[in-house]
Amino acid sequence: MTAPVRAARGSADLIAAEDAVLAHNYHPLPVVVSRAEGVWVEDVEGRRYLDMLAGYSALNFGHRHPALIDAAHRQLDRLTLTSRAFHNDRLAEFAERLAALTGQDMVLPMNTGAEAVESGIKVARKWAYEVKGVPADRATIVVAADNFHGRTTTIVSFSTDETARSGFGPFTPGFRIVPYNDLAALEEAVDDTTAAVLLEPIQGEAGVNIPDDGYLAGVRELTRRKGCLFVADEIQSGLGRTGRTLAVEHEGVVPDVVLLGKALGGGIVPVSAVVGRREVLGVLRPGEHGSTFGGNPLAAAVGTEVVGLLETGEFQQRAADLGAVLREGLTELVGRGVVGFRSRGLWAGVDIDPALGTGRDVGERLLREGVLVKDTHGSTIRLAPPLVITEEELRSALEALEKVLAQAA
Ligand SMILES: *Cc1c(COP(=O)(O)O)cnc(C)c1O
Repeated sequence: MTAPVRAARGSADLIAAEDAVLAHNYHPLPVVVSRAEGVWVEDVEGRRYLDMLAGYSALNFGHRHPALIDAAHRQLDRLTLTSRAFHNDRLAEFAERLAALTGQDMVLPMNTGAEAVESGIKVARKWAYEVKGVPADRATIVVAADNFHGRTTTIVSFSTDETARSGFGPFTPGFRIVPYNDLAALEEAVDDTTAAVLLEPIQGEAGVNIPDDGYLAGVRELTRRKGCLFVADEIQSGLGRTGRTLAVEHEGVVPDVVLLGKALGGGIVPVSAVVGRREVLGVLRPGEHGSTFGGNPLAAAVGTEVVGLLETGEFQQRAADLGAVLREGLTELVGRGVVGFRSRGLWAGVDIDPALGTGRDVGERLLREGVLVKDTHGSTIRLAPPLVITEEELRSALEALEKVLAQAA
């Protein structure tokens, strides 16, 4: 064997190097991951960690799920990119099965979540002008406070998070912000200019904010009655995370448009999509919108396999069953370092007693216990393990949390 060209670099060295050369738009926990499988990741020194973040739900099926890796390998050996200038032999099946899975008619394939949101906004506006009859350039979109829909200039224009906005103006007009989980405020904000109400069925980045029962059904009723679209951003809540394929299914709601991303790429490639009714997505004509990489054969092959995994219902069931274990475990920690939590399926926002430290502090302590989590805001941490986690592994993560909270007390 030939000697390596350079000695392998350790964690401290790689972190210092990143710090010197990368833009500081993230503040990662001090762990340098070099391989992973299922729910387990390994750092460059060979230490193992249980991944309780799952790439913000991009890794719902775990790291390197064999069926997904196999689909990617097979496609890599055949065809990877055509652009939409030509057809490719993988896109039709991906779109057919994704539409069927989500109960919608048509698919607009994109890459990242923010692109799906941008595309949803454009389509809703065009629908408002062409179908609803809103006067040119007057369309409004109603959104919720504390939303997270991505990072583009237009999307941060309707964020209420000053850190995400400050310094990036001027902003895109045409958005109205109402409190989340407040149907009366929505009733007041929606008028003849409203193209759509755009919401997360559960607000992820805000700390896994779950609206009251009946809110999403109320949004559906209100938008239908007032003649505007309901666009559900399921980029984080969708594809099995909450125990159903989509989080809106908990209230039996079918939105006009659903935005998907994250897990749709199987943790391998960025894949996102706008899925919706024919009357809405049908407003787009050639040349009016697009993406060089959107719907590429590699993305379609992986996305089709993701849809295939979800068609079995097995992952949704795991999320529901293990979600009960998660809820029970967190309930036991209330009053013992946890002041409150919200959970649905394998997804929880856990408010730590601020006296015990920030969410970041808890994340760093859990890291030392071999568990990876991410804080959201202040003293809240989020738990969103891969849906392939076992009950035993889930219980061990809860035990680690109990331990670090007891140590901090
Ligand atoms: C992550 C996320 C986005 C943005 O997705 P990117 O792929 O990071 O652009 C949009 N909406 C929600 C609800 C998200 O969680």
